[in-house]
Amino acid sequence: MTNPLLAEWNTPFALAPFDAISDENFAPAFEVAMDKARVEVAAIAENSNAPTFANTIEALEASGKALDRVLSVFFTVAGADSNPRRQELQRDFGPKLAAYSSELYGNKALFARVEAVWEARETLSLTPEQQRLLMLTHRAFRRAGAALTGEQDKRMRAIMARLAELGTAFTQNLLADEASWHMALSEGDLEGLPEFVIRAARAAGQEKGADGPVITLSRSLIVPFLQFSPRRGLRRKAFEAWISRGARGGETDNRAIAEEILRLRAERAALLGYESFAAYKLETEMAKTPDAVRDLLMAVWEPARTQAEADADTLTAMMRADGINGDLEPWDWRYYSEKRRQAEHDLDEAALKPYLSLDAMIEAAFGCANRLFGLEFTPMDIPLYHSDCRAWEVTRHGRHVAVFIGDYFARGSKRSGAWCSSMRGQAKVPQVQGAVVINVCNFAKGDPALLSYDDARTLFHEFGHALHHLLSDVSYESLSGTSVARDFVELPSQLYEHWLEVPEVLERYATHVETGAAMPPEMLERLLAATTYDMGFQTVEYVASALVDLAFHEGTPPEDLMAAQRDVLDRLGLPHAITMRHASPHFAHVFSGDGYSSGYYSYMWSEVMDADAFAAFEEAGGAFDAEQARALERHILSKGGSADPAELYSSFRGRLPGVEALLRGRGLAA
Ligand SMILES: [Zn+2]
Repeated sequence: MTNPLLAEWNTPFALAPFDAISDENFAPAFEVAMDKARVEVAAIAENSNAPTFANTIEALEASGKALDRVLSVFFTVAGADSNPRRQELQRDFGPKLAAYSSELYGNKALFARVEAVWEARETLSLTPEQQRLLMLTHRAFRRAGAALTGEQDKRMRAIMARLAELGTAFTQNLLADEASWHMALSEGDLEGLPEFVIRAARAAGQEKGADGPVITLSRSLIVPFLQFSPRRGLRRKAFEAWISRGARGGETDNRAIAEEILRLRAERAALLGYESFAAYKLETEMAKTPDAVRDLLMAVWEPARTQAEADADTLTAMMRADGINGDLEPWDWRYYSEKRRQAEHDLDEAALKPYLSLDAMIEAAFGCANRLFGLEFTPMDIPLYHSDCRAWEVTRHGRHVAVFIGDYFARGSKRSGAWCSSMRGQAKVPQVQGAVVINVCNFAKGDPALLSYDDARTLFHEFGHALHHLLSDVSYESLSGTSVARDFVELPSQLYEHWLEVPEVLERYATHVETGAAMPPEMLERLLAATTYDMGFQTVEYVASALVDLAFHEGTPPEDLMAAQRDVLDRLGLPHAITMRHASPHFAHVFSGDGYSSGYYSYMWSEVMDADAFAAFEEAGGAFDAEQARALERHILSKGGSADPAELYSSFRGRLPGVEALLRGRGLAA
């Protein structure tokens, strides 16, 4: 029988036939597709014709597509619906992929051809996008160590293979620590918890096979528990379990893994001739240097800390009023902050939730994309990898654009967080049948599913990433959609969050799930006033993580991870009751792979731009200004990585943004 991962996909829009694929298909398909990729690359390297853009750069772009197809299915299910077999495959594929990649970039004959095309670039009459593809291909070879020889070359290969193994182990340890902990609640422990938390705790109890409700380490459950539970002892127990992920000793401890990752990254950067891993990583970013990053973060740190310290005093006074002495602790912040929010803004998350049903917020995200860009979404009935997944065909003016898949609910087999990925990117060379884009979230399941405002923002955020894929209009897949500099990739997603805050959007879509009534005007007003609430805390926990990430990747790598982390936080003066948003032993952004290493700052870098970009709409005709929407699509959303991000931004806005916009956006401007 033919392996469905290798067969032609005669499905609507050539989607992966999930119902025909079993876990047993992955390993054999992986081997065949990888062999095929090797043959394709060898043919390019050994071509007897003189190197040209078409027979080298474009041919490389077209190689390995069968492997991409197998991996697009595999990584989708491995991240969103893992099981022991898939974890085992992931452990097996990781080092093989690293070896393949280092073999590709270490292919001297191939590099000689890429180098020859690069040297001849002025004479080739390439389009700007082709010039960009050539520059990026050449730079990727250089950065991967294509110019290394002998012992150095060998060492680099060993480092890369080991890093891939360590990244996978880090992720799996984190997943294991998250899955292995839960805290049973007695009926009495439910006191003070709103209905949605109780429902989610009962559902979690059922999933865990417990007798009653439980609290798990899923962000969608533990955060509301910390916000609402008056039981300080339980909050402390849950919080300590939450922040100890990856640092509990034993087989799933991530500390030694993270230390080894940092040592190997530093060695890798040195081999390539960079001052530090941070210098190496930032070369390809809009920020360009570690100093530029630190300047940005420190410009935000002081105003944020000042605000957070003032807030800590207020919360401590509230705790005293409850008859509790001693310091305000990290497991107290969210609880008293929620109380304060209810007192000052009288915005009750529990009362708000019925207005933010998942279905209504999906409609809202789609509705805005329709008004701004003319996209239409039609539900599709197709087999997917889990019964919770939903799919829509995306069209414009009656023409197929893409397929969009939403996988919204938390479950034990899904890693935490939220993300957007494409199973197939947009491309014209060769033409593909439209992109296939997935949003994966971890919202608490319910009937109906109700979101917190934070969840709704996450939904808009990930959908903003999806739009980057859906509106992409470039020639080459490797330049399409979100294939952009890391500190630019959050611009479309963070920018899209602004539309959730547009009053007419909430008025229209945030209707009560049972009565259909629009959100009461005073609730809407309070909600909008509360969007910058607790920004001192949020900015501090985020910037602390970003600065630790940067420090880890500059200078000598730390011998003791936790001591180095403490050092940075002490120097910064992190307020006592605030912890890093992600402590190092579970800082997946930084250690699961090197995607966000010395790059966690980039969310904030992008926020500089999102505040500034949304202001362009407000300064024109408002949130749905047609001309600004066209400009945003033309200069940014359709361009993917086909041009330099600073140029793209400047074409849209006529200038580059400054840090003032960010401070205003967070309500921290002096
Ligand atoms: Zn994002």
